[in-house]
Amino acid sequence: MNREFAFPGTRARWAPDRVVDIQHIALDLTVDPVKRGITGTVTLRVAVIAPDTRSVELDAVELTIERVAVGGAAVEFSHDGRKLRVELAGPAAAGSELVIAVAYRGAPRRGLYFVAPDDAYPHKRQQVWSQGQDEDSRYWFPCFDAPNEKATSELTVTVPAQLFAVSNGTLVSDRTSGDQRTLHWRLDVPHSCYLVMLAVGDFTAVEARWRDVPVVYYGDRGREAAVERTLARTPEMLELFSKRFGVPYPYPRYAQVFVTDFIFGGMENTTATTLTDTVLLDERAALDHDVDALVAHELAHQWFGDLVTCRDWGEGWLNEGFATYAEYIWREHHEGRDAADLELDEWAEHYFGEDSGRYRRTIATKYYEEPIDIFDHHLYDKGGRVLHMLRQVIGDAALWGALAHYLEKHRLGVVESRDLARAVEEATGKNLDWFFSQWVLDGAGHPELEVEVRWDAAERLATVTVEQHQKVEGKTPLFRIPTRLRFRADDGDRDVPVEIVEAKHVFHVRLEREPSQAIFDPGRTVLAALKVSKPEPLWIAELAGATLAIDRATAARALSRRGGPAAERALADALERDRFWAVRGAAALGLATLRTESARDRLIKALTGEVHPRARRMIARALGDFVYDAAAGAALAQVVERGDASYFVEAEAALSLGKTRTQRAGELLRLAATRESYTDVIRQMAYRGLAEARDDSALGLLVEGTRWGRVTQGRRAAAMALATLVRGRRDREARDVRERIELLLGDRDFRVQSAAVEALAVIGDPAAIPALRRMIDRELDGRLRRRGKEVARDLETGAQAGEDLRRMRDELGELRSVATALRERIEKLEANGNGHAAASGKTRSRDKPTPTKDKGKDKEKGKGKGKGKKKTR
Ligand SMILES: [Zn+2]
Repeated sequence: MNREFAFPGTRARWAPDRVVDIQHIALDLTVDPVKRGITGTVTLRVAVIAPDTRSVELDAVELTIERVAVGGAAVEFSHDGRKLRVELAGPAAAGSELVIAVAYRGAPRRGLYFVAPDDAYPHKRQQVWSQGQDEDSRYWFPCFDAPNEKATSELTVTVPAQLFAVSNGTLVSDRTSGDQRTLHWRLDVPHSCYLVMLAVGDFTAVEARWRDVPVVYYGDRGREAAVERTLARTPEMLELFSKRFGVPYPYPRYAQVFVTDFIFGGMENTTATTLTDTVLLDERAALDHDVDALVAHELAHQWFGDLVTCRDWGEGWLNEGFATYAEYIWREHHEGRDAADLELDEWAEHYFGEDSGRYRRTIATKYYEEPIDIFDHHLYDKGGRVLHMLRQVIGDAALWGALAHYLEKHRLGVVESRDLARAVEEATGKNLDWFFSQWVLDGAGHPELEVEVRWDAAERLATVTVEQHQKVEGKTPLFRIPTRLRFRADDGDRDVPVEIVEAKHVFHVRLEREPSQAIFDPGRTVLAALKVSKPEPLWIAELAGATLAIDRATAARALSRRGGPAAERALADALERDRFWAVRGAAALGLATLRTESARDRLIKALTGEVHPRARRMIARALGDFVYDAAAGAALAQVVERGDASYFVEAEAALSLGKTRTQRAGELLRLAATRESYTDVIRQMAYRGLAEARDDSALGLLVEGTRWGRVTQGRRAAAMALATLVRGRRDREARDVRERIELLLGDRDFRVQSAAVEALAVIGDPAAIPALRRMIDRELDGRLRRRGKEVARDLETGAQAGEDLRRMRDELGELRSVATALRERIEKLEANGNGHAAASGKTRSRDKPTPTKDKGKDKEKGKGKGKGKKKTR
């Protein structure tokens, strides 16, 4: 059974009560980037909800509250460092309006982050940026910090004159006086306070336009070309989503700002998305890479998340599932369905990994410790797949219609999963409660399907047997799965809809003639683990000619598992001829699985002949499967040595070269590790390659690679490579590595800290538990705490298992010694007398275990007595 998501003792979390309705937030702030401090006033205009309200409670963490006034008159307040309680002069009636002003100052450790150059990173620019989601706005301004409260907002911010400040909405004024600059931003559309944002830096703006909406990209001065290159397709995305979602982009402006050391990839602050500057594309990276998925994701949140918001974080998939699915919608529009379908595979991989490796949970849940805990692959990737399935169940037109209705109905409001189900029902007439129940609210896990396809020539009958093999237990149900069977006759596809509800179904389909293809669930729309058996000629025909690339790739995988000359020929043909690069890549990976010399030679040829860099990347990956193969090693060595037009091909070749463990691997990987590249990808893969090559002499280089002052991603990869090299070892070198990585738990870079947690999980030494516990106690980032707890628990369990194993070994030793003693006695008895005596000897022996067991206990305490036992060990 899969592990539970919630730690024992976790209580349900519900959206908080609202005593007042906050209507407007006005924040007036002075930011000191050097002293890393803020002073300011937040003014809240509220309407009282609860009758006879005598006090109002706000979230305000680690802020110093100086004064509180209501309606201009100072009032009493109390503040315990987390909650600010404002006492009203007298009871306020429901419906009455109050203006609460709180003057405060602070040096935030969360919510607002200060970036500055230092000796190790002299090229960093001074920046200050906020990150409110999920509950961190309270660290930089007093607020009602929950998504179920929405207000309009404005931010007046004073910064050093040479800097600029971006916030939500439109810029009302921008005045410089002396060495101070004051900017005033305002958003007249209500939003939740986790979406209130600020970014301060030496930014320049690149301006674009969509319809009459200004579209602006901000980045550090001097990086305009990269900013433009990375975000160029934003207006096209605005157009697409406005059409698909049925609601035009609902705000007066859309800005995106790149910041340094951001602790997420992006954040969908209303009208002003924050993005990590690590993704800024240089020309070479743009050759075969884009960050459209990220850009589309954050943009889609402007509808799903900002305009319509999850009522509490337990319903967070209504934000993240849609934003994730929007990546598919964009890709489908921009590159076609085949490219979009690649996302499906990736999401499934992430979700399956989390499901089998960490825990299984319902997508919507109230049982979590901290909101950030549920921002996982269930929420994003499975959420996206659920929406893709919804689309298959109700059809394209119905989906777009339902989404428009859902957005209009809940515009500016908050939602839970039932609201989506109801909106879909209202728009389509279809009651989909069963769908949302099994996939989102009540059901966890996924179907594990075994499918068998046969053809009865006499009856002209195709028979498709489908069995649900998942263990129905806990929250894992028997699923209801509407899908299709696709048969190829002549040149056309014929789709037959089927619905699976039982544990086993046998579908019979009469066809004119034997189909050349027979595909269960074309397009792999159902989120299921799938095991399909069918005659080899069908697989071969599907690899050669299935309509959808994802089905051709599935056939490539199936053929690689079967092996044999026909499979190899089919894969080789696909590698050479398929029209879509990812199918050529899948064929390459399939050929690698066969491990034949001829397959290897085809791959070596393709490594230089393939023109699409993304396919080339997969070919390089495939060659890594040929461990100790000199020819594969030499081909990869050549790519690493000479380089490739694509960063990513070069990087992949480095990793694969390490995997082959061939002659020049160590030398060339050290060379690759000196190369600068986009997101440090070549160095990352060179480090991983050194670990794969089991190159212990690289430990020093890798320790150096983790040093503060180097590029974040390379540091992370170095930490992981170190962990891989010493995994399971307990020698002095391993201890040194573990201690080095424990130090990284306290690194100033969140991403390196999180890599350190993963690295300690890989090393598997329970000696790391105290360091993890210390990190959990002091760390403010919920992601580190959650993962730290999981890893500490697993190391403890591992240690426990180790302890149990040791005890079992001890007991086995005891048993052996008893057996030896018995044998000796029996032999003696047999030598002395007859069979009866031997039997009585056996009987007597049953009294023996008690004293030996006691002895065993003594031994555990280190007082070992029995000499005889030693011998038997
Ligand atoms: Zn998101």
